[in-house]
Amino acid sequence: MHDGNEHQTQLVWNDVLESIRPKLNASNFDKWLRPLTCTEISDGHVTLEAPNLFIRDWFEMNFLPTIEQTLSEVTGQPYQVHLKLPDPGQKTALSMIPTKASNATPKNSHNAGASTPMAKQDSSNATNKPSQPSSLNGKYTFENFVVGPSNQLAEAASRAVSKLPGTTYNPLFIYGAVGLGKTHLLSAIGNAIVEEHPTWNVIYVSSEEFVVDYINHLRLNRSNDFRRKYRKDCEVLLVDDIQFIAGKDSTQGEFFHIFNDLFKAGRQIVVSSDKFPHEIPALEERLKSRFQWGLIADIQSPEYETRVAILKKKADFEGIYVPEDVISYLASNIKTNVRELEGALIRLAALSRLYQGQDITLKFARNSLSKLIERTTDPLTIDVIIKQVATYYDVKISDIKGKRRQKTIALPRQIAMYLARTLTNHSYPEIGAAFGGRDHTTVISAVRKIETLLKSDSNLRVEIHMLEQKLER
Ligand code: ADP
Ligand code: MG
Repeated sequence: MHDGNEHQTQLVWNDVLESIRPKLNASNFDKWLRPLTCTEISDGHVTLEAPNLFIRDWFEMNFLPTIEQTLSEVTGQPYQVHLKLPDPGQKTALSMIPTKASNATPKNSHNAGASTPMAKQDSSNATNKPSQPSSLNGKYTFENFVVGPSNQLAEAASRAVSKLPGTTYNPLFIYGAVGLGKTHLLSAIGNAIVEEHPTWNVIYVSSEEFVVDYINHLRLNRSNDFRRKYRKDCEVLLVDDIQFIAGKDSTQGEFFHIFNDLFKAGRQIVVSSDKFPHEIPALEERLKSRFQWGLIADIQSPEYETRVAILKKKADFEGIYVPEDVISYLASNIKTNVRELEGALIRLAALSRLYQGQDITLKFARNSLSKLIERTTDPLTIDVIIKQVATYYDVKISDIKGKRRQKTIALPRQIAMYLARTLTNHSYPEIGAAFGGRDHTTVISAVRKIETLLKSDSNLRVEIHMLEQKLER
């Protein structure tokens, strides 16, 4: 490896010595520790060279446990110290994390995925600066975050934290399934704080980036820089998707110490995850319990109204005109993931441009998104619709499917047909067949009739909306 590493190793060691100094009296320190040189620091191992046998043995007997303990405190991971005497020949200079060894040792193998910069390291890299974590995404703000019952707590807590960082909820732990706005909220907190305190250093980092950053700093023998960056020079730390740190022992250890330092200094920490802390496998207990110190807020899948509001906001933002019925079609069919909801809207806009500005109509939306929508929802059957409508209007299923024509039965029947047409992908003939073997023209005229009534009859609009919600799955 690079020759400069020997020097770097010594620098790291000097830092360790500084932490040890207060634990010893000055003369002991100078007598027994100063003479040692550090020849290697690799994952979990430190090799020190004593100038002679006497110093080596005396050190081993008196200082070894203190040194090992201090090393673990400073670095956040257990270390074993080995002592040796000078080689008769030349000393070998080794890096903090040996290239091959760290890939080969099981303890470290999960840290060194082929996709990380670890894989392409070479000696010329050793002088590069470690990679910077990605910065905040400025387009994720509180203003464009739609609030509903599903995300209200997380949003309110995020706003509180951004107004009074480090004082209200520390740490703030936000959890929820993928695509529900965790990254959006973390970024919104960061953006609001930077706006209020332009000189503050707000670090947004995904835990994957954090792991890679840590490894790179170690590789370049710059663990001190790493510590400075996250512990000292950081006013607010936003760690996204903490679940990816689980199982990565040395990084978790480092994070634990960073957490403690920031917390003690009253700096705000916000963490997101796809799970509640105690449900993240292979996450250290001490981290799980730290996450409980502040507030844990969840984000659930948004309700129908929230989905509609998100779509409208997004359409406005993108400058796309999307009619109401298309919005409700999307909102009724894509339920669990906001990213997919937005994706569907963007896709429609792109397709409409592709087809020379074809209007985004319900038919166009259905045709364009049928695959996407089939994939994301359990199929809603016509029988389920009939049953729901019958219950709602307190009529018999057999009446809905039967031939009686009085209004109290005919109207629910037409509504059920309308819902079957708008909420499923069944054709008119298929719907007719499901309603006691009726002709497809009967279904068409029922759907038209309801569409016309909906324009003038606000009670009916409410009823159909309620039914649509009940039929959501
Ligand atoms: P996560 O990090 O939880 O996987 P993201 O924050 O990346 O989810 O959200 C996915 C997409 O959905 C982003 O484009 C985000 O802006 C959007 N989004 C999620 N929730 C909302 C919301 N309540 N209001 C507006 N946009 C939202
Ligand atoms: Mg995210």
